Amino acid sequence: MKLGIIGGSGLYDIDGFEFMGEESVVTEWGAPSDAYRHFSCKGVDFYFLNRHGRSHGIPPHSVNYRANIAGFEKLGVERIISFTAVGGIRGVKPGDIVISSNAIDHTSGRAHTFYDGGLIHHIDFTEPFCPELRALLLESAERAGVEVKDSGVYICTNGPRLETSAEIRYFASIGADTVGMTLFPEAPLAREKEICYANVSVITNHAAGTGDTKLTTVEVVETMKAATERIKAIVSALPDSYTVNRKCLCKDALEGTKISK
Ligand SMILES: [Zn+2]
Repeated sequence: MKLGIIGGSGLYDIDGFEFMGEESVVTEWGAPSDAYRHFSCKGVDFYFLNRHGRSHGIPPHSVNYRANIAGFEKLGVERIISFTAVGGIRGVKPGDIVISSNAIDHTSGRAHTFYDGGLIHHIDFTEPFCPELRALLLESAERAGVEVKDSGVYICTNGPRLETSAEIRYFASIGADTVGMTLFPEAPLAREKEICYANVSVITNHAAGTGDTKLTTVEVVETMKAATERIKAIVSALPDSYTVNRKCLCKDALEGTKISK
């Protein structure tokens, strides 16, 4: 049973998890952002990866998302939970934790598919997050006594600049609740590898034009730090909610999607 976690500073010392070592993986898509840190707890193997690298030196638009996801696949990971820091657009405030329920891709110029030549697959992405993994997260949060919002639409921008106030008004009008820079192409790449994927977003700030003050990265880091204990509590509760066999559709995501001969 192997579970991937994409984070997220502060997630390297979960209570009750045994550190098993680091695994450096080479993929045909290049090098992942860092070595995968392997932890074990109650029969579940956890592989942690920070998408920005250990020293947080890789900006959102430069992350090698394909290598990161291909690396998880090489390690035999069947499920990935991603943690993201986001701005709040509607119905949320700094400090809130959202188990995202849908998403909008507003990025451009990123290597966003494993099938961009030769084989072509049009994967179904009606539901971008695995329902089974979302349910597991909600159950873990409840067991840990951590309040989370059980739905929210995440819109992903290219960054690294923050959004204009007009963009945020537009994003609100098309149904977005939170805004971040890393969900795409991470989520669809996982689906292309038939890996379950769910997202936990921490609201670190009001999105542009919806708060009173100018956003600083100090504010983002401080709010993220304050949420770390609650995030750790959710992750610590995961092994008790874990079920071995996947019954969701993610494991067969490529079935019937190939269009090339
Ligand atoms: Zn799934």
